[in-house]
Amino acid sequence: MIRVLFATSEVYPLVKTGGLADVSASLPEALCRLEYDVQILLPGYPDALKAARKAGSRRKSRFQIGQYSVSLWQTRLPGTAVTLWLVDCPPLFDRPGDPYRNDEGKDWWDNAHRFALFARVGAMMATGDAGVTWKPDLVHCNDWQTGLIPVFMESCQDRPGTVFTIHNLAYQGIFSHETFRALGLPDSLWRLDQLEFYGQLSFIKGGLVFSDRITTVSPGYAREIQTPEFGCGLDGLLRHRQAALTGILNGIDTRVWNPGEDPELAFHYGREHLKNKAQCQALLQQELGLKVNGGPLLGFIGRLVEQKGVDWLIAVMPELLEKGCQFVILGSGETRYEEPLKLLARQWPEQMSLTLGYDEGLSHRITGGCDLFLMPSRFEPCGLNQMYSLRYGTVPVVHGVGGLSDTVNDPQDVGIDRANGFRFGEASAPALLGAVNRALEYFRQRKQWRRLQQNGMATDYSWKRRALNYGDLYRNILKERQ
Ligand code: ADP
Repeated sequence: MIRVLFATSEVYPLVKTGGLADVSASLPEALCRLEYDVQILLPGYPDALKAARKAGSRRKSRFQIGQYSVSLWQTRLPGTAVTLWLVDCPPLFDRPGDPYRNDEGKDWWDNAHRFALFARVGAMMATGDAGVTWKPDLVHCNDWQTGLIPVFMESCQDRPGTVFTIHNLAYQGIFSHETFRALGLPDSLWRLDQLEFYGQLSFIKGGLVFSDRITTVSPGYAREIQTPEFGCGLDGLLRHRQAALTGILNGIDTRVWNPGEDPELAFHYGREHLKNKAQCQALLQQELGLKVNGGPLLGFIGRLVEQKGVDWLIAVMPELLEKGCQFVILGSGETRYEEPLKLLARQWPEQMSLTLGYDEGLSHRITGGCDLFLMPSRFEPCGLNQMYSLRYGTVPVVHGVGGLSDTVNDPQDVGIDRANGFRFGEASAPALLGAVNRALEYFRQRKQWRRLQQNGMATDYSWKRRALNYGDLYRNILKERQ
C-alpha cells in the first residue's frame, strides 16, 4: 500500500477559503477508497484542534523547532475515515477566522514563519524525524504554503518522492530578502534557479524547483502557465520543467453535489426527470424576493475579485436586466465590485439579488435553481462551480480558459449533441455578452435546452476517475526513484 502525506493549508469542512479545501478533502478520501494510505497534514487552527479534542483524539508527539514548541495531533477528518495530522503551535496558528489574513483582510505579518514551520514539520514527518511511527513513501504538497517541504527534504538521504500541485499560480508566497535571512535558509538557495524571484523570496519556487513532479488542476491550465500571459513570471521555469508537469482535472464530491438528494433542495430531480428543477427555481426566487416568472435566471457564486471577471459581469448586467433576465449573485470581495452590484440590486429589486458573504446552503440552492451559471473568469486553474452547475442541469457560460475550457463544450465547436454550455474566447465584456445572448437563444428552444442540460448531467465528474490518475502518477514517481 502506497503511503502519502498530503500537506495542505486548508481542508473542508475545517477551514476553507477556496477550491483547495474541497480538493484536500475529496482527493485523499477517494485515494483511500482505492487502497492508498493517504494522511493529511494541516496547521493546527483553533477549529481543527477543537474538533480533534471533541473527537477524543490525542497528542502523538512533541518537539522543539527553534523557539517554538510543536505538538502533532492525530485525528480523523470529520465525516471520513481519513487520518488527519494537526501541527499544533499556538503562537503561530491559534488565530480565529481566515487562515492567511487578519480581521482587516491583511496578510498575517508572520505568514512566512508560519508556513516555514509547517513545512519544516512536513519534512520531519516525511523523513521519519517527527516522533511518529508512520512514514510516507511520497509527500504531496499543495500551493505555496507547502513549497518549502521539498526544500527541507532535499539534503536527506532516503527522502520520499515529492509531488507539488499548483491550485492557483497567482498566489506565490513572496517575501523579502530579510525574511529569507530571518528564516535561516542557507545562502546557497538565494539564486534565480532556486528560491530567489526578482530579488525576493518565493515559497512556490521551492515546490516547482525541488519536487519530482509538478501537477496542476487541469490540462488547459498546465498548458497556459507555460506562457507569459498566464505564467505569472514563472512560465520560464515551468517550460524548463515541462517533462515533469501534468494537468489532472479536479473532480467534485458527487455525494454533496447531487440534485437527486441534495438536502438543501426542497425538490429533487435528475437527468430523466428535470421537471422539479422549475420548483427549485420558484422557491429560490421567493426566498430572495425576486419575481417568480420562469426565468431566465442567471447565477454567479464566487470571490468578487479581478480573477473572476466580475467587472465584465457588472458591465453586461444592465443590458440583460433591461431584457428581463434575473440575476442571483453570492460572494464577497473587493469594494470596487461590491458597490456597483449593491447599486444594481437596489435599482432592480425584482430581478437582481445580491448576497454578500459566504453561504454554503444558498450556493446549493442557486446551483439548483438557476437556468444559466456565469463564470467569466480571466483565468481559472480548474473551477468547481461549472462542474456543480453541469451536474445540476444549470447551463454554464464561461470564458474559455484553464479548466473551464476542459469542461465546457459549446455547440458552436462540438455541435448540439455533445455541447453542455457556452464559451467565449476574447477576454472582454462584449464577448461575455455575446455568449450569454447565444445561450438565451437556445434557452427559448426547450428541446435544445433540455439537450444541453442532459449532456452536462450525463458526464462523470467524480473524484474516483481523477484519483486513478493521481495513483498512476504516484506509482510512476516511485518506480523512477527505485
Ligand atoms: P476559487 O478556489 O478560485 O475561489 P473555485 O471555483 O475553484 O474557485 O472554488 C470555489 C469554491 O468555493 C466552490 O466550491 C464555490 O462554490 C465556493 N464558494 C465561493 N464563494 C462562495 C460563497 N460566497 N458562498 C458559498 N460558496 C462559495
